[in-house]
Amino acid sequence: THDVHIIGGGLAGSEAAWQLAEAGFKVKLSEMRGSGEMTPAHQTDGLAELVCSNSFRSDDATSNAVGLIHQEMRTLGSLILREADVHKVPAGSALAVDRDRFSEGVTDSLIAHPNITVVRERVDALPETGMTIVATGPLTAPALAETIGTATGKDALAFFDAIAPIVHFDSIDMETAWMASRWDKGDTKDYINCPMTKDEYLAFHTGLIDGEKTEFKEWEDVPYFEGCMPIEVAASRGVDTLRYGPMKPVGLDDPRTGRWPYAVVQLRQDNASATLWNIVGFQTKLKHSEQVRLFRTIPGLQNAEFARLGGLHRNTFIRSPELLDPTLRLKARPNIRFAGQITGCEGYVESAAIGLLAGRFAAAELGGAAMPPPPVETALGALLHHITGAAVAETYQPMNVNFGLFPPIAGRTKKADRKKMYTDRARDALTAWMAA
Ligand code: FAD
Repeated sequence: THDVHIIGGGLAGSEAAWQLAEAGFKVKLSEMRGSGEMTPAHQTDGLAELVCSNSFRSDDATSNAVGLIHQEMRTLGSLILREADVHKVPAGSALAVDRDRFSEGVTDSLIAHPNITVVRERVDALPETGMTIVATGPLTAPALAETIGTATGKDALAFFDAIAPIVHFDSIDMETAWMASRWDKGDTKDYINCPMTKDEYLAFHTGLIDGEKTEFKEWEDVPYFEGCMPIEVAASRGVDTLRYGPMKPVGLDDPRTGRWPYAVVQLRQDNASATLWNIVGFQTKLKHSEQVRLFRTIPGLQNAEFARLGGLHRNTFIRSPELLDPTLRLKARPNIRFAGQITGCEGYVESAAIGLLAGRFAAAELGGAAMPPPPVETALGALLHHITGAAVAETYQPMNVNFGLFPPIAGRTKKADRKKMYTDRARDALTAWMAA
């Protein structure tokens, strides 16, 4: 018998299991690898396998949001961070690991824990009863994905998506760009608009066609959403296709000229505090370096800083902002919690972080004492808040942790100072939360 059933022994499931077990609860951890099953990206039977890079990104906790979340996870007794620290390899200010030793370290720790039973099995349906944490990741096996889709509503499970870049608001040049909706009557100003002249548009179009693209692995050959064609594919259909599509200028008077520009790039608000904006229709498989170079040729975005770049890959995630409660439970079926990338966070660290929180929320619930979510000023709290409500549900896309998710620092400050202000504030907030 067990208190909690965790499905998926990746970054999130492993961390959730550890947190629950350390809190004294019995966990059954079901992982399909090792039972003859494999995902299209994994290569071993090890728990918490890193499928691609071996990096947990920046370990700088004073000026980087990822470094900050590392530190918060260490403070909360993270197994993933402990094993990463033990098996780290030189990587400058980044935390990179020997991937095999790391995965072995996690696997051995979980198997050796008296409160954890690791079962190698594929789970094909959401359990009807019993406290459950679903942590099956971006490559959730199809049968389970199907039942999750049914439980969350037909179109709520986003599949294999193309994602558009997201820009930090304070890096947009609002002297050049302006706020307006199409056919603006002055009351709704929902979009940021970046105007282009004919020459700028033609050069941009050529850049899209000639730009270096990411090559696809065979396994990525999966069905995509209708209507999310990469922008460079649309561009290849004709020089004016984008001017009649996402870059359409009609109804958008440039306040400086009083006329419609030749073409317009629009950005749409991406989080409740309006610190992040996504470029509408700009899902792309251009290489990341190419995206930065090309998108900075857009007037108004010449100094753009990207919270996330575009990409195209298989990614199973639910529309968490409308489906989950603040402690990661499925509102419609509160015995089910979600954790990891399936909630719409992105990356090893973020997935483990949400696993850590799911484990702690479950432990608190079992112990009969509700745990308030960590404050939004912390990296853990900011990421959780984005997932469970702050993000705009209709355009919800996978997200890395970044300062754009935090409540803005009031007043004008130098950028370098601001990062330290975020991390200092976060440390104080975490300390206060843990004391409470
Ligand atoms: P996972 O780590 O994928 O774990 C999910 C586990 O659930 C797997 O072990 C799987 O076998 C198991 N499972 C699935 N379905 C079932 C089922 N029905 N029953 C039982 N078990 C099941 N992130 C980065 O930070 N850096 C990168 O370089 C990077 N590269 C990536 C490359 C690719 C191709 C992909 C797909 C993702 C990449 N990511 C990267 C994202 C990263 O993989 C995830 O953020 C992270 O692994 C997610 O953790 P997770 O625990 O949610 O899922």
